[in-house]
Amino acid sequence: MTSRVWKLPILAVAIVPLMLACVPAASNIIEVQPATAQKSNIDEVNNAAGASGSNRIEAEVTKVIDGDTIEVSIKGVQYKLRYIGVDAPEPDSIDTNTRNIAMKAADKNSELVRDRTVEIEKDVSETDRYGRLLRYVYAGGFMVNAELVKCGYAQAVSYPPDIKYQSLFSSLQAGAKASKVGLWGSSGYYSAPMPTEKGIYVGSKKSNKYHYPSCIWAQQIAADNEIWFSSGEEAKSGGYIPCKVCRPPQ
Ligand SMILES: [Zn+2]
Repeated sequence: MTSRVWKLPILAVAIVPLMLACVPAASNIIEVQPATAQKSNIDEVNNAAGASGSNRIEAEVTKVIDGDTIEVSIKGVQYKLRYIGVDAPEPDSIDTNTRNIAMKAADKNSELVRDRTVEIEKDVSETDRYGRLLRYVYAGGFMVNAELVKCGYAQAVSYPPDIKYQSLFSSLQAGAKASKVGLWGSSGYYSAPMPTEKGIYVGSKKSNKYHYPSCIWAQQIAADNEIWFSSGEEAKSGGYIPCKVCRPPQ
């Protein structure tokens, strides 16, 4: 008798972490969706989180701003929220391919979160320098940050100290590149050089990397610091190496 009584609390201790690791109810629905529907990424996310678990709270999505920014209401208070660890192209970019991908990113984001109750998870930082909440966002069986990278609609970008899922994002991005989807596909903005009057690839006088002009890093080079090349060879002979994000040819 005594031993049975003792087993109960032990059982409870064993079961509670399992329940916490459980995904939202959506995982049952996935089974009956058409074959074209994408599989939930929550198991991957939970594996990446490991023993540290998570601390998620609910929020209402009130607006989708672009591929990586939304507005949410938490207990009646409105906040701008920026997805952690990812960067989608800018919708106001001057380059057509970039704008197209930016629109697809915003559409995908909208499809996942618009008008929904989502769960949000903080990493280390509360907000970025613009005062936007920095969060991982979960909706309908997906971590949205991860899904955008997986579909090639956003790049994985590491902003320490908020790097809890960065290795997951990197591996999802490698998969997106390998299957040439979104940014990495034939109509994506890293697929082909877009010659401008100045050249095909651009570097900064302050670094040794060269880029496709559409690379997010290329777009941060001040006009005065731009240095243009008409081939990878020319860049190489000038002492430049290819950017590891946009990967222009050598
Ligand atoms: Zn680049």
